[in-house]
Amino acid sequence: MNQNLWEVAVNAPLPQTLTYSAEIDDLKPGLSVTVPLGKRTVDAVLVAPVATSTPGQEPENEKFKIKNIIEINEERPRINDVYRQWMKWVSDYYCYPIGQVGQLFFPPLKKKGRGSRKASVIPTRGLEPQSTPPTLTPEQTQVFKDISSSEEFAVHLLHGVTGSGKTEVYLQLLDQVIERGQQGLVLVPEISLTPQLIQRFSQRFGDQVAVIHSHLTEREKTDQWWSMVDGKKKILIGARSALFCPLENLGMIILDEEHEPSFKQEEKLKYHARDAAVMLAHKVGCPVVLGSATPSLESWQNAQLGKYRLHQMKSRVENRAMPEVQIIDLKEKPDEASNLNPEQKNSNCELPFWMSPQLHSALTETLEQKKQSALFLNRRGIAHSLTCPACGDTRECPNCAVSLTLHGKSHLVCHYCNYHENRTDTCSVCNEGEPQTLGLGTEKIEDDLRKVFPEARIARADRDEIQSREQLEELIENMENGHIDILVGTQMIAKGLDFPKLQTVGIVLADVGFHLPDFRSGERIFQLITQVSGRAGRHIKEGERPGQVIVQTYNPDHPILNFSLNHDYVSFAEYELSARRPLTYPPFGRMASFRIQAPELKLVQQAASTLQQLCEALKNKIEKYRDIELLGPVEAPMLKLRNQYRFHLLAKANNPWELVQFCKHVQENSDRLPKKSKLLIDVDPMSLL
Ligand code: ADP
Ligand code: ZN
Repeated sequence: MNQNLWEVAVNAPLPQTLTYSAEIDDLKPGLSVTVPLGKRTVDAVLVAPVATSTPGQEPENEKFKIKNIIEINEERPRINDVYRQWMKWVSDYYCYPIGQVGQLFFPPLKKKGRGSRKASVIPTRGLEPQSTPPTLTPEQTQVFKDISSSEEFAVHLLHGVTGSGKTEVYLQLLDQVIERGQQGLVLVPEISLTPQLIQRFSQRFGDQVAVIHSHLTEREKTDQWWSMVDGKKKILIGARSALFCPLENLGMIILDEEHEPSFKQEEKLKYHARDAAVMLAHKVGCPVVLGSATPSLESWQNAQLGKYRLHQMKSRVENRAMPEVQIIDLKEKPDEASNLNPEQKNSNCELPFWMSPQLHSALTETLEQKKQSALFLNRRGIAHSLTCPACGDTRECPNCAVSLTLHGKSHLVCHYCNYHENRTDTCSVCNEGEPQTLGLGTEKIEDDLRKVFPEARIARADRDEIQSREQLEELIENMENGHIDILVGTQMIAKGLDFPKLQTVGIVLADVGFHLPDFRSGERIFQLITQVSGRAGRHIKEGERPGQVIVQTYNPDHPILNFSLNHDYVSFAEYELSARRPLTYPPFGRMASFRIQAPELKLVQQAASTLQQLCEALKNKIEKYRDIELLGPVEAPMLKLRNQYRFHLLAKANNPWELVQFCKHVQENSDRLPKKSKLLIDVDPMSLL
């Protein structure tokens, strides 16, 4: 019998596709359909027709009565061949059900909505008529020529200092893409999708630009999605999910701030938009450009190995000076700060503990010059570590080179390998200081600033203060218009912003970044200092005083700070790579994390040990898994989150596909874990909290 059978990826947590029969004509792979599943009806994607069944397989078909596809969802875009191949890769590599990956290609609503008004998605505030693009600098010209010399697949890593004109290079590359009649995709971290950036693109490309970010209404998002699918718009700017908009004629992908950890999705499908973008470009056969002032070590290493092509821009446009970075030792008491004149010393004795005399005088001077300052405090650390105020030592795990985390009052634990020790009253390195947890918040900084500078106009930007996009936009406008003298904030304001009058930038406590139980914490702090410094003095004219950056720390001799001081990414990368190589941390080895969660502590402990046994057994049984290294299981730094207790186990391997197969293998056997527990697999994890 010649049945019309289809392989279908249904929207359900199933590892495999299912087979359905069809009585509908005009079925094509990639179409969205509705199918019965158990007693429900679910959305699904047609993957491929099933080859006519051979006689030997007939009984199987009879055992499970094959059901009929109900209908085609005409209101949804078709996933074309290239995107379908990529969908399969995403599903395989990140161990996520293919049917659930499939649903990401569709906008939230039907194509034709009622009351679909003209979208105001692109901000038009102060839009000037299109000016002619600037003449590229020699460095920009070189990069532009090198990248545009071929339309084939290649990964270009553009390493350009802050303000070197990377965005201008993207604009001119995209101009060519449009000339060729193709479409361009620009991915940026959600937080950089500011009106400033969108305006820059729409000034250049007018109404050919579509935008997708998480603050659009469902209707707006659907309209923007279709404007690209239908080819009406040519350039799509979006956060990571824009990668799933199925374009017919993709000519180039650009991913800016490629080092940003937010390109990794931390829930459900745990994909990394950078790696997924590279794979998509590979399937499409078009170039992909990864840009950053501080490339991720993964990308840097790929460039060193010749897998990516490296392009560098070492100076700012118009030879604007790089900011001057000063590193201040917070251990030094104000009266010992010898290079201050007596007058400064007197006025300084009342300063809050976090404000060095140098920062105080820089803020004072900037206020006098009617320019702006910004103070950053990196508060990402939820985990507390202990630092000695006398010598600056932070307790680290002897096995893992990550900071130990304080549990309760006296217990220090490593969140990679479970090493633990007791807290000592005096520092074991200098035998002098009493190690403390460093605790300081942006709110306290704001309060203190108001006391020290009662005349100054002070604003704060953190997750408590700025909760919506409108609020962030208002803040940006107030900065641009000079209504703010000192801005205090978290990394929320560290990214991509361009304020002409911002002269002085202070990093209140650089040490916060060193304390995370994460092997990437050194990389993060280098990135943060570089990005934050990049905000200072972006618009100075030749001969004007450069922007200044004051980095306060208890560890002034930390090599990473010294690399930041000299804007020396290359030496930083060499230093960091040589630290990771012996431990085979990425980029040398691959990692996967198995997180196990359950509503009770006993249960999660039991599940974690079952998981460990399962992993060990697989390793022993199967030859190719021999070299996989298992770490843990150990409780996660955030042991309890949303009423779930959490443990994790890490796996390290040299070969990515062996690791992925191992993950799949573990997943297939996960029915042995206790019923109420849940296993979550994260391939190439970025966060281990
Ligand atoms: P990046 O993305 O590397 O931080 P931008 O592209 O934002 O740098 O450029 C920094 C500033 O210099 C922007 O204000 C931009 O308009 C300006 N700029 C960029 N390229 C040129 C150029 N070739 N000539 C003059 N100004 C430029
Ligand atoms: Zn350890």
